Amino acid sequence: MTDKAAYSDDIKQSSEFLRLAISMLSKHQIPLDPYNYQMGYECVSGKNQALMDDLNKLIEEASTPSQEQLYSLYKSYFLQDEAFFDIMRQEIRKIIVAVLHNFGHSCDELSSYSGTLNQFVDILDTHNSPELMIQETEKVIAHTRSMEHSHKQLEKQMIDVITEIDSLRKELEQVKEESKLDTLTGISNRKAFDVTLEHSILNARKNSEVFCLLLLDIDFFKKFNDEYGHLIGDKVLRYVAATLKRNVKGHDCVARYGGEEFVIILPSTNISGAMSVAQQICDAISSGNLTDKDSDTSYGKITISIGVTQFRASDLSDEIIHRADKALYLAKDRGRNRVEKL
Ligand code: GH3
Ligand code: MG
Ligand code: MG
Repeated sequence: MTDKAAYSDDIKQSSEFLRLAISMLSKHQIPLDPYNYQMGYECVSGKNQALMDDLNKLIEEASTPSQEQLYSLYKSYFLQDEAFFDIMRQEIRKIIVAVLHNFGHSCDELSSYSGTLNQFVDILDTHNSPELMIQETEKVIAHTRSMEHSHKQLEKQMIDVITEIDSLRKELEQVKEESKLDTLTGISNRKAFDVTLEHSILNARKNSEVFCLLLLDIDFFKKFNDEYGHLIGDKVLRYVAATLKRNVKGHDCVARYGGEEFVIILPSTNISGAMSVAQQICDAISSGNLTDKDSDTSYGKITISIGVTQFRASDLSDEIIHRADKALYLAKDRGRNRVEKL
C-alpha cells in the first residue's frame, strides 16, 4: 500500500486513524515525522498487516526502535521502486557516457582520416613522383585499415550497448509487473485492483455493459491466527487466493484487498451470474480440509463471507466498493459462510 490512490478514507475515518496512529507511535516514543506517521497510519488502519507485524517485531526487540531501524523499515515498504529506478538511471547514464566517449574518439579519428585523404588529393594534383605516390598510397591504405578496425570496434560496442539497454528494459518490465502483485499470495494487489476497477467503470459506461464486484472476507480469521499462529495463517491466505483463482475465468480480476480481504471483478457478468460464482467459491472454501502435508497436521475448516453487487451507471469506484462492503457486512451479520447481495 504505497501510493496515494490506495488511500480512500474520508475525513472522519482518516481523523480517527490519525488519532490512533499518534497514540500508537507516542506510546513507543517513536518520533512523529512524516515517514513514521505513514507507517503508523497504514498499521492502525489495517491496510498493511505485514508492516504491522514487522513493526511489532521491532518494538518487541527494542521497546523504542532507533530512527535508523525505523527508516530502514520504511524504505523496505515504501522506497523499493524508487531505489530500483535510481540504480536504473545510474546504469543508463553510465552507458550513455561510454557511448558519447566512443563517439568523441571516432570523430577525432574521422577528422584525422579526412586530413590524410585531403592531403592525398593534394599530392595527386601537384606531384607526380612514383616513389612519393607509392609512399602516400601505403599511408592511405594503412589509415583506411585502421579506420575499418575502429569502425568494427564501434559497431561491436554499439551492439553491446543495445544488448545492455534491452536487458535493462526487460528488468524494468519485470519490476513493473511485480509491482502489481501481492507479495504473499502472488495475486494482484490493491494498487492493480484500483486501476482495473477504474478501467472497468469507464468500459461499462462507454459500452453500456454490466460487471459485478465481489468483496470476500475470511470468517473469524483472528481466532484462527491466535490458535495456529501467523505463519499458518499466511498459508491459508495463499490457499484462499489460489482457490479464488481456480474458480473464476482468466479475464476476471482477483486481488488481495488488504489483510484477510479479497476482491473480484467479474466483467460482462450480471448479478445472478455473480451470485452463482460467489456461492461456488463459498462452497469450495468451506468444503476444503486444511492440512499441512509436511507434518500431516489438520487445521480443520475455514469459511468466508461474500458481498456481491452489480455496477450501476452512476457509480464512482468508492460507491460500488461501499455497496459490496455493506453486502459483506450483511453476510457476516446473517451468520457468515454465506453470500449476500445489494
Ligand atoms: P470476521 O469473521 O468478522 O471477519 O472476523 P475476523 O477475525 O476475520 O476479523 P478481524 O477483522 O477481527 O480480524 C482479521 C484478522 O486477520 C486479524 C489478523 O490477525 C488477520 N490478518 C490480516 N492480515 C493478515 C496476514 O497478512 N497474515 C495473517 N496470518 N493474518 C492476517
Ligand atoms: Mg476483515
Ligand atoms: Mg475476517
